[in-house]
Amino acid sequence: MERRKFIQAGSLIVAAGLIKPFQGAEIPVYSFEERIEGPMIISTWIHGLEANRAGWSILENGGSALDATVAGAMQTESDVANRSVGIGGRPDRTGHVTLDACVMDGDGRSGAVGYLEGIAHPAAVAKAVMEKTPHAMLVGSGARQFALDNGFATIKTPLPEVKKDYLQWRKENKELIKRPKINHENHDTIGLIARDAQGRFGGTCTTSGWAYKMPGRLGDSPIIGAGLFVDNEVGAATATGLGEAIIRVAGSAIVVELMRGGMKPSEACKEVVMRIIRKNKDLTGLQCGFIAMDRQGNVGGFSVYNGFNFALKTQTRDEMVDTEFDRKW
Ligand code: ASP
Repeated sequence: MERRKFIQAGSLIVAAGLIKPFQGAEIPVYSFEERIEGPMIISTWIHGLEANRAGWSILENGGSALDATVAGAMQTESDVANRSVGIGGRPDRTGHVTLDACVMDGDGRSGAVGYLEGIAHPAAVAKAVMEKTPHAMLVGSGARQFALDNGFATIKTPLPEVKKDYLQWRKENKELIKRPKINHENHDTIGLIARDAQGRFGGTCTTSGWAYKMPGRLGDSPIIGAGLFVDNEVGAATATGLGEAIIRVAGSAIVVELMRGGMKPSEACKEVVMRIIRKNKDLTGLQCGFIAMDRQGNVGGFSVYNGFNFALKTQTRDEMVDTEFDRKW
């Protein structure tokens, strides 16, 4: 398996803002293999760099891992250029942008929202579901009402440029059941996991889901155990990619259980990815990636296809990390 290794200096140039990284670009990355001491936060894809920095401002002031990941998620949710998360997300095939998110802390508390329309920060609403309700998940109009009742900011979606793309897509896709290829255009959910100074873990996952999905569809991202799982006894894992495949193997929960059994994060992520590969005869467009961290300070990831990476922030690092993969596009 070919593994790209780039010089760390390159990632520092990106971190310093000398090169503006963008989705799909050939960016410098650093293959990461060492145990991390102290607080750390990792998150999926290149937008994780900015998200991690938002989370870090909480971690470095002694805040909780959960709060750090929610802050990071909110940063990405506010990014009008992001087409798979928050305000800039693409709609379902009827033109409605519906957002999914979940949060979990290492004590097993969790909250989630699904199919939430017109609310700016689904990750924060998911946290409020955890803290203010007896439930683990609210969806659709109930989730929206809960958000409005609790004063969460509203947004008007889709954004005009997103609507223009959607109308074009509708014109070109009369056969609406067609499965779109998962690529950077329709898939870059952010999942964030962190460990704070007290050694507690927390995580958040937020997305607008599969672009042009069927109305009512939920992917893995708001589902505890699929898109996210956290346990202070072990560590944390989160996912991105084709949610249907991730749900069917209870992806993130299994990654954590495999780490409990002694696997390192990258090994556990690989085992779940290989399970997905074994169970799906047609892998066309089926990209899935997992990232994980454990109590010993190991971090890692693995994906079906090449091209997946994650952002890492610690006291001394602020960079992208390439993951191993099973096959090339
Ligand atoms: N996991 C997300 C979903 O299936 C998609 C993505 O990662 O962008 O909704």
